[in-house]
Amino acid sequence: MSEERLRIAIQKSGRLSEGSFDLLKSCGLTISRDKDKLYGRVREMPIDILLLRDDDIPEFVADDACDIGIVGQNVFEEERLEGAQDKPAQEVMTLGFARCQLMLAAPKDWTFDSPTMLEGKRIATSYPALTRAWLEKEGVNARAVTMKGSVEVAPRLKIADTVCDIVSTGATLDANGLKPVANVFSSEALLIRNANAFTQGKQEIYDALLKRINGVLTSRDAKYVMMNAPRSAIEAITEFLPGADAPTILELAGSPDKVAIHAVCRESVFWNTLEELKKLGASAILVLPIEKMMA
Ligand code: ATP
Ligand code: ZN
Repeated sequence: MSEERLRIAIQKSGRLSEGSFDLLKSCGLTISRDKDKLYGRVREMPIDILLLRDDDIPEFVADDACDIGIVGQNVFEEERLEGAQDKPAQEVMTLGFARCQLMLAAPKDWTFDSPTMLEGKRIATSYPALTRAWLEKEGVNARAVTMKGSVEVAPRLKIADTVCDIVSTGATLDANGLKPVANVFSSEALLIRNANAFTQGKQEIYDALLKRINGVLTSRDAKYVMMNAPRSAIEAITEFLPGADAPTILELAGSPDKVAIHAVCRESVFWNTLEELKKLGASAILVLPIEKMMA
């Protein structure tokens, strides 16, 4: 095998870190690093990890300092709209964690019924490009004022009329006399890569890692479902099972009218799914977690 190593940029500490480390761990990678080191080495595959501030990740990946990275769509899209890089990093896929929303928030005493209310107003935000893109889409003429932190205090300080900020519980907004009124951008963690072709060595490592990431993502919600059912109900049950491929039908010893149905369901299996299966005639239903999956 070649000496080449794939370099992955992830957030050092913050709301993306845990999900990023968990994902790599689920891919079977253990990262050895000291707590405040900016660098980690993976033992199982030729991969190095760079631990950075999330805002630096798109640029590091675009510049070839790292090959791939994990960043919030909000940060990636903001930097893309700003057009800071000649050859920006490319999106590979969303990863299903660090979900959040960039929300427009207004003073609580506003009766907000339409974005046109923002006409001529000043909006404080750390995401001016995303905010402007939304205002343009809504056909509203307002000013986005850039603030790097403490955006929520802007209306109280009369720096701005409203704010556009990442909202989780809304408690910070509430404490500052604001309420969320419109969703400007929905975000989750995103895998990005350098836009240039990788060398063959790197490409092989990248392909192997991507296969594992895909396996982890598809098995995350997937369940192995087993049940007994009347032979006559096979068709109805198969149609009903969420996201299942062709199930396996097995004979049940001593019960010619009944079969066992085994299926991999790729979507969440809820209690009401089981109740519906029961109504269709299923019994002895078992739902098992799937640890690993590879197509
Ligand atoms: P850094 O020190 O790396 O610059 P930061 O303070 O800018 O960190 P975090 O607060 O850790 O950033 O958020 C990182 C990313 O996590 C955000 O850009 C967003 O994509 C996502 N995020 C933010 N808030 C939440 C939340 N409440 N829940 C889930 N994900 C969030
Ligand atoms: Zn940041």
